[in-house]
Amino acid sequence: MSRFNYAILQPGSIKAKPNGRLIPFAEHRSTSVVLWPEGHSPSIENTILTDPCLTAEGYQHSMEVLSELGVTFAEIGYVFITHQHNDHIIRFPKGILKPAFRRFNPSDDIWSSEIRTSFYPGHSADLKSLIFHSSSGDTMCIAGDAILNEEWLRAWQYFWPNRYSQAEIIQTWKSVAAIVASSDVIIPGHGAPISVSVALIKELLSGFPAAQHSDRCEEVAQVLKNRLAELV
Ligand SMILES: [Zn+2]
Repeated sequence: MSRFNYAILQPGSIKAKPNGRLIPFAEHRSTSVVLWPEGHSPSIENTILTDPCLTAEGYQHSMEVLSELGVTFAEIGYVFITHQHNDHIIRFPKGILKPAFRRFNPSDDIWSSEIRTSFYPGHSADLKSLIFHSSSGDTMCIAGDAILNEEWLRAWQYFWPNRYSQAEIIQTWKSVAAIVASSDVIIPGHGAPISVSVALIKELLSGFPAAQHSDRCEEVAQVLKNRLAELV
């Protein structure tokens, strides 16, 4: 199995709370990750950057992380965008030259089959996650906004400012369950990594009946129960 090292370049954050409140002074920022194969140094040939929609603050943080790794943006060869929303596409702060990245394509010969993408629509029709194994053997899922952050996940909330349809909300719950069922660690679109634990799944199961339209996708609970049975 090929494994990957990874680092959070831009820590994700979000202004809105699941309950409808806004957090004063919070920045809306995508989570951006850099990853490269274990046993190799990061280089233009093997390094992938995800959702680099960098704010000035996020760019500063990214520069610090990259300098600890001994690389620059110019030495990152590939980019993976989870979905084409404005807050996830490639953006560098004003005045900073945007490097020319190649699009990550898992079927390119240089990648092993151990790194792949998976389609998790709902939040957006084109949403894909990046799935790989970390150096500690965890199955990692860079989930984009299929999961916004741990608080939104635990609250069974979708990004309400986007006014999703019933079908999109149901699709979101199916994607959430599929991600939780197949990952050890989830890197959400706007937050810190989430460990998939027995306690987390139990909480998700107890909260699911109150999720909007949960009566129309009861299979979601079964997917979570199956995952719980694997973990206990
Ligand atoms: Zn987003």
